[in-house]
Amino acid sequence: MNLILLAGPGSGKGTQAELLQMQFGMVHLSTGELFRENIKRKTELGKLAKTFIEKGQLVPDSTTIDMVRERLMQVDTERGVVFDGFPRTINQARALDEILQSRGTMIDAVIYLTVREDEIIKRLSGRLVCKDCQLPFHNEHNPFESCPYERCQGEYLYQRDDDKPETVKARLRVYQNQTAPLIAHYTARDMLIKIDGEGSVTEVSNLIQQALRKLIESQDIA
Ligand code: AMP
Repeated sequence: MNLILLAGPGSGKGTQAELLQMQFGMVHLSTGELFRENIKRKTELGKLAKTFIEKGQLVPDSTTIDMVRERLMQVDTERGVVFDGFPRTINQARALDEILQSRGTMIDAVIYLTVREDEIIKRLSGRLVCKDCQLPFHNEHNPFESCPYERCQGEYLYQRDDDKPETVKARLRVYQNQTAPLIAHYTARDMLIKIDGEGSVTEVSNLIQQALRKLIESQDIA
């Protein structure tokens, strides 16, 4: 099964994608995470991506699509992929269809998490990410108690540069202008599953699981 998690920044995509990876054995493919890894390793791709990410802008489509194409060539993705933060433009959505089609597969559903903008701002201002396992936590909604992978301690937590208030505003504008059109794009293809993303991590996860179970039963997806 291949899924897209579509939502604004700070709507819980990363957390839910991580849970789907654990529950369904899918590969969690986060383009934001791939960029951050490249920035850490100081690759050419990382240097380019950084100039856009720090302004809250999207990395150009061609660069992002090439990176995803390369990741999808790795054999583990045959287990199914949960796309987190990709596609973010109509161009990327079309390219993803082509890449998957060339491998004889396709997107089975798009999970659209709805979270109001004021809630997004509240969440992002309290978000902390673990430097080691990269999992996102929130000082109120999803406090760091112990590392689920038992790898890291609380002192690893930091605020992402692009979670600072000015950059968050830019990211929200970019989402409205460039990514939100994907809602209509996938609705027209009857692929969109709308989920209320404002509950607790467990509540949202339960809603997603229910929806996926229904989908699996109705379409006989493995
Ligand atoms: P994320 O971790 O998904 O919030 O992504 C962090 C940042 O990485 C975004 O604000 C963009 O600058 C960049 N980015 C992530 N995914 C994409 C994408 N699909 N297309 C373009 N830029 C992206």
